[in-house]
Amino acid sequence: MTEKILITGVAGFLGTNLALRLLREGHHVTGIDNFYTGRRDNLSVLEKQSNFKFIAHDVQQEFPDIACDRLYHLACPASPPQYQRDPIATTMINVLGMKHALDLATKYNSTLLQASTSEVYGDPEQHPQTEEYRGAVNPIGIRACYDEGKRVAETLCMDYHRQKGTKIKLMRIFNTYGPYMDPKDGRVVSNLICQALRGEAFTLYGDGQQTRSFCYVDDLIDGMIRLMHSPSDLVTPVNIGNPDEFTVAQLADQIELILQSKIERVYEPLPAVDPKQRKPDISKAKALLNWTPQIKLEQGLRMTIPWFKDQI
Ligand code: NAD
Ligand code: UDP
Repeated sequence: MTEKILITGVAGFLGTNLALRLLREGHHVTGIDNFYTGRRDNLSVLEKQSNFKFIAHDVQQEFPDIACDRLYHLACPASPPQYQRDPIATTMINVLGMKHALDLATKYNSTLLQASTSEVYGDPEQHPQTEEYRGAVNPIGIRACYDEGKRVAETLCMDYHRQKGTKIKLMRIFNTYGPYMDPKDGRVVSNLICQALRGEAFTLYGDGQQTRSFCYVDDLIDGMIRLMHSPSDLVTPVNIGNPDEFTVAQLADQIELILQSKIERVYEPLPAVDPKQRKPDISKAKALLNWTPQIKLEQGLRMTIPWFKDQI
């Protein structure tokens, strides 16, 4: 069935990948963005499709009146250097953007999926992280604008659900990579690939032994759509990510291996409150959504590197 779908943050990395998939399936997609971190080049790709419509809008303001069956709320800077450049704005985007998205979803009785994050677990003491784990976030640290912003956004979703019956889905996304990421975004996968392609040294923060679990974007979008279409009584948060865990140094090794060149490594100070390890427990996604990621890191990097090559 063809649906009317609204995506906030459509010009960003995940928004563009999600929109492309939904447009391919024949849905009518309206996208909202203010290009805070989004790319106009991504939008040009989407605008080639006749079933796509774009509205320039800042989610900190009340949304235009757009009737929709489903609302994917993705608008928010996601890369640490991007969300830390104006931390006050990051908190406000999270809180006000969430409220305005919930108000629209409530008005049209549409299902809203909130792009939450593994950052709600902070620098976790539990490993791997289950959805029941309440997290270890430093509320006054430099990551708090994002982490606490996302936590309060989850709170707003649950309270709209309990108080007004709003249909919500909470997706806790772990580090994801793939085509349509901004080469200047500042996250580790885009940084290391672009450095290697430009013949520059890898920048490894700290000793490079901190871990992350990297999910290829097609797997992630598949999990996102499955969660959106799950039964309406599934209102619990669900982790979506690839549980294969790598140190940042191992990620650099993989890129070297694929490009078959030895790349110098420069060690830079570890940013404050940088989580030491992160790995999702995806038992819930497996049981409730029948979802498991299919693409291994090496395969995903092989599909991502050519895209960055074209960009730079
Ligand atoms: P991104 O920075 O590439 O995209 C975010 C998009 O939101 C951009 O197009 C940006 O311009 C837009 N945006 C930001 N502020 C806005 C505002 N005030 N009004 C309208 N649009 C605005 O990030 P992404 O990786 O695509 O992440 C998308 C969502 O998924 C974010 O909410 C992020 O927190 C969440 N998430 C992503 C990851 C990941 O690994 N990619 C991990 C966890 C959570
Ligand atoms: N990192 C790095 N070099 C870079 C960028 C990031 O070593 O050029 C590290 C960063 O300190 C963190 C990890 O890689 O430990 C993942 O960083 P990213 O910004 O991708 O996402 P995070 O999971 O920290 O939000």
